[in-house]
Amino acid sequence: MQQVAVLGATGSIGTSALDVIARHPQRMRASVLAAGTQVDALLALCRTHQPDHAVIADPKCFDALRDGLRDAGLRTQAHAGEDALDALVDGDACTTVVAAIVGAAGLRSTLAAARAGKRLLLANKESLVLAGELLVHAANDAGACIVPIDSEHNAIFQCLPDAHAREGLKRICLTASGGPFRGRSRASLADVTPAQAVAHPKWSMGPKISVDSATLMNKGLEVIEAHHLFGVDAGRIDVLVHPQSLVHSLVEFVDGSTLAQLGLPDMRTALAVGLSWPERVISGVGGLDLLQHGRLDFEPPDHDAFPCLGLAYAALRAGGTAPATLNAANEVAVSAFLQGRIAFLGIPALVEDTLAALPPGPADTLDALREADRAAREFAQSAVNGSKTQR
Ligand code: NAD
Ligand code: MG
Repeated sequence: MQQVAVLGATGSIGTSALDVIARHPQRMRASVLAAGTQVDALLALCRTHQPDHAVIADPKCFDALRDGLRDAGLRTQAHAGEDALDALVDGDACTTVVAAIVGAAGLRSTLAAARAGKRLLLANKESLVLAGELLVHAANDAGACIVPIDSEHNAIFQCLPDAHAREGLKRICLTASGGPFRGRSRASLADVTPAQAVAHPKWSMGPKISVDSATLMNKGLEVIEAHHLFGVDAGRIDVLVHPQSLVHSLVEFVDGSTLAQLGLPDMRTALAVGLSWPERVISGVGGLDLLQHGRLDFEPPDHDAFPCLGLAYAALRAGGTAPATLNAANEVAVSAFLQGRIAFLGIPALVEDTLAALPPGPADTLDALREADRAAREFAQSAVNGSKTQR
């Protein structure tokens, strides 16, 4: 029986993971559920899935979680805080970890899962952008199997099943839906609202990644993610806009073959791959009827309207702490945009200003990366507070 810890259980990926797990009671169960601050949502999940442990990140929410579990008559143990989460991820409470906390807040638990040699279903792309080398080394050293749960990287994982295939790899092509503002000019994006930005045409996702999809920073983060997961440098990673979101990515080999993975845009497919690989199990997602969809379109990304993609490539090429700075500035910018404190075009402006102000240093220790993350947040937050970013 596979014992699965779902971190970020109340979120979009977390609930999709629990949906797949519940379809296979003979082979897997959710043994640990963790969330940030949403006690009621976590309690509801505990009533349905009856995990051994429930963890709330915010210690102020511990009493409510403990009392709620007791009142529901559940045997689930209540915990709070990052140390408790790390101990559960590290110990016997789980064999598999779904890392689906949003943002750099997920780094500690993701790293703990890698170091403990667990099967790691990695949705938390920000931890790879922030500390990709350390994370991949830790996983390799401990024998942890990382299965990417970003649809694009999961597609590439499926197309590149072994080391032999990787030796013959020439290029990777990440597909992008283009987000809700595909086809619009830069000038027309000046006054778009948070509600418009989170209304993604193809995928239903949490607010942060939805804004990242609208700016194309999501694809930029994914370029950096692909670099770490598949050992490919920036010059061999392309991005192609594909509005139907049916081709999830492609790999080209030296012999002229290109392989792609296709499917409906539903994260349960990637999660089922992660939970059962190398076997295949049902995910609840239906098959793809190409006749019904009719056509597959591809176009180049518009770097003028969506400068975040180019900023991410530049940060990857600059190396060192630059990707950590990019990620932290973006998290601050997205949060400020969602709160109505900066304009949509203020997001790339703030990321660019932060990268320019904080030149990259060596990224060989976790402390150096954490310091780069902290400094970038401080710089970006004070820029937001001074409203310097309204361009
Ligand atoms: P979401 O906002 O829907 O959910 C985030 C989850 O993280 C919630 O359960 C929240 O309680 C938890 N959380 C937040 N801060 C926390 C903290 N400090 N400690 C513990 N838990 C905390 O986000 P999502 O869309 O599910 O995305 C999760 C991650 O997966 C992100 O890194 C995102 O980039 C990645 N991802 C998501 C999708 C998608 O389809 N949603 C696709 C690819 C990758
Ligand atoms: Mg993706």
